[in-house]
Amino acid sequence: MDKFVQKKQVEAETIKTVSGTKRKRHRSNSIEEMDAVLKKEAKVVESTSRVFSKNVIRWTLHNSLLIGQYIKKGDNFESRANIAAFDLDDTLITTKGVHRFPKDANDWKWLNKKVPERLTKLYEEGYKIIMISNQSVLNPGKKTGDKKRTEFKNKIGQIADSLNISFEIYAAMAYDKYRKPMIGIWNYFVENRNVGVTVDKENSFYVGDAAGRIENWKLGASSDWTDTDRKFAENIGINFYAPEEFFDNAEVGSFSYKGFDPKKLPRDVPLFTPSSSSSQLALPADQCEMVIFVGYPASGKSTFAKKWLVDAGYVHVNQDTLKTKQKCIRACETALKENKSVVIDNTNPSKESRKQYIDIAKQCGVPVRCFWFKASEALARHNNMYRHFNSENEIQPLPDIAFNVYNSKFFEPKLEEGFQEIIHINFIFEGNDHERKIFNLWYS
Ligand SMILES: [Mg+2]
Repeated sequence: MDKFVQKKQVEAETIKTVSGTKRKRHRSNSIEEMDAVLKKEAKVVESTSRVFSKNVIRWTLHNSLLIGQYIKKGDNFESRANIAAFDLDDTLITTKGVHRFPKDANDWKWLNKKVPERLTKLYEEGYKIIMISNQSVLNPGKKTGDKKRTEFKNKIGQIADSLNISFEIYAAMAYDKYRKPMIGIWNYFVENRNVGVTVDKENSFYVGDAAGRIENWKLGASSDWTDTDRKFAENIGINFYAPEEFFDNAEVGSFSYKGFDPKKLPRDVPLFTPSSSSSQLALPADQCEMVIFVGYPASGKSTFAKKWLVDAGYVHVNQDTLKTKQKCIRACETALKENKSVVIDNTNPSKESRKQYIDIAKQCGVPVRCFWFKASEALARHNNMYRHFNSENEIQPLPDIAFNVYNSKFFEPKLEEGFQEIIHINFIFEGNDHERKIFNLWYS
């Protein structure tokens, strides 16, 4: 058996039940911890399956994805070329009142009575029915995550009872590549869950209420709360419909996209400014200096450092690799004493963080320049997700806090701090056509 398949089989933990059991509250933050919690939970549910199984729903875990597969009695769960994919909340179902978030497992009803009829018809016409939903509330790292997961599974069981056709549901529990508009779920589905059949994108579609429609898209209508469902379909390259368009034949409403659009990133910017003849990135080898970077995490600093400075002989000081600030300071002192130029490749948002290094340079009588990476927070966050999404060895995205800390500490670098010059570095995407395509997807 091929290693990949073997690994997948080990990873897959199949659970046969609708509802869960009462279990201890877990709190965890890291992916590893989350994994452990979910795997433990999977076993608990499995052992009680006979008591609770009303419908046959197999709950599977894949990284931060919770997958429910409902198989109607006598049905074979087959791969199909045409995929009818749906968001869940406010697309197929809604709460029983005017409140937005469900109160418990029973707080749901079909968006309208056409929904189950239409889904059944699609299934009979040969579509595979899947639901794709962002459900970070189910995350085991959240205080109420365990309770919410139990309720969610219970609710899906009720939906399955009511619908009574085979379907799959994919719930993204974390802020990673599985969360819409990112297409980790779709890719996983296409590669691993619809085996042996190539998906026909032209005949497949996604329906969701996060359609980015502007106010008054139909008379008196308020704007959609977000646009992630439409972006999700666009990222995949399949047709998209808002629920009103799909179930009620409503006219297509005007919409606009919000958030960072990588396709609009200017491509003809200079690598750095000012780019006068006196400015150069790396000084000749016989001159010694210190370069201090300032910039968001994931703003391209390390790639830049390697390409333009480290390869030119600068000593690379980076806290991700050296681990502590003390080690960075020591590496910096050693380099300057040996008359080697050095680049401080950290985010260095605050005046204080930069002063520690500037003081060392002063003591050694070495000039200091600041390279300020001008990538906006939105671009840096995009890069963060791109790296995660595009990584083969599963680079995890940096958490929000990494960006928030930078913002809270940021103080614009000024010459008075002791810099000879402050050079602005622009972000320029580097990659082949395939990588550019991945970079150009919507990530938020
Ligand atoms: Mg929705």
